[in-house]
Amino acid sequence: MPYSFKKLVCPVLLSRKKIILFFLNSLQLFPEALSPSTIHRFQLSSVGGKSTVLPLDLGGFGISRYAFDHFLFEKAKNCGVQFLLNTEVSDIFFENEQFTIHASGSTLSADLVIGSFGKRSKADVSLQRSFLKKRSPYVGVKYHVRSDFPNDLVALHNFKGGYCGVNAVEKDVVNVCYLTHRDVLRQHGSIPELEKRVLCKNPLLKEVFEHSDFLFDKPEVINEISFETKEPVFNHVLMTGDAAGMITPLCGNGMAIAIHSSKIVSFLLIRFCSDASYTRAQLEHDYAREWRKNFASRLWFGRQVQRLFGSSLASQVAVRLALYSKPIAQTIVKSTHGKPF
Ligand SMILES: Cc1cc2nc3c(=O)[nH]c(=O)nc-3n(C[C@H](O)[C@H](O)[C@H](O)COP(=O)(O)OP(=O)(O)OC[C@H]3O[C@@H](n4cnc5c(N)ncnc54)[C@H](O)[C@@H]3O)c2cc1C
Repeated sequence: MPYSFKKLVCPVLLSRKKIILFFLNSLQLFPEALSPSTIHRFQLSSVGGKSTVLPLDLGGFGISRYAFDHFLFEKAKNCGVQFLLNTEVSDIFFENEQFTIHASGSTLSADLVIGSFGKRSKADVSLQRSFLKKRSPYVGVKYHVRSDFPNDLVALHNFKGGYCGVNAVEKDVVNVCYLTHRDVLRQHGSIPELEKRVLCKNPLLKEVFEHSDFLFDKPEVINEISFETKEPVFNHVLMTGDAAGMITPLCGNGMAIAIHSSKIVSFLLIRFCSDASYTRAQLEHDYAREWRKNFASRLWFGRQVQRLFGSSLASQVAVRLALYSKPIAQTIVKSTHGKPF
């Protein structure tokens, strides 16, 4: 990495949208060699399977988090970043301008800490962040499959009580990931029953579930997905990615936001480390302001758009809107995606 921080808890990131291409290329971090899929089209379908396809102006690329994390890990290691693998942070304390971090039996000290521990972590519990007090009803279910799903398409299919995203990643693997409510899952007893009785009512999802080879033995299930507002700075920890706030997955750009927030924090940290007159209070104030300016309204908009999904009527309206008023639909897509950075 071109930056030398004193001691830092470092983020690991990934993304899919082309809005981050320039930034990744400028650091030679675009994973060309992994052959990510190139996405130009967006398909939206209603609960009943009525669908429309829109061009994606900014395009995107599809790559699995696993492959991209490993790629970034190797790059950072070659630049001299030290990693503590299989190490979980349990507590973060700040006193006398120093952080003390307890992690898997070791105690570390740091001048700065970036919180890049995702949407819900043990570190949040230790920090007693308020979003944890509200239980979140959302559950995510994810598979990797092989199918003849087009390489240049990202699809968002509605079903009663949720929505499912489908797109190709690297090596002809297709990512299938849906979000639903805990009660919808409970009502149907199990994931296979939910898929058979509810998801497959949408013929486009039926096609995916019945004509794909599933590569995992069982799905990856993510519980307690919270879209609550969080703090970009908490107890002096500078939060990036989902730790600062999570955009609803239907917007498909959580990874771009994670990378963008890390870019913002990195530039401010360089100033903090090189300019003695730039105080910690200024750093925290500037980061919180920049974070809110760049992301707060997009996260809010994502929460509002999510309400249109998972209901028969609202999803029909959304598809009709996309079919008959493409400029409005494009404006909605743009409102959640931000500008290239
Ligand atoms: C169902 C679903 C579908 C999604 N689909 C998309 C999509 O299509 N496109 C897109 O761009 N985004 C999507 N997202 C969002 C995207 O996954 C996240 O926004 C993105 O991964 C955020 O990156 P992050 O680095 O902030 O957090 P994470 O990816 O969660 O990474 C956090 C890391 O911190 C580690 N960690 C956590 N706690 C500790 C601890 N105490 N000590 C040490 N390490 C710790 C974790 O193991 C993990 O490696 C989706 C999310 C969900 C839930």
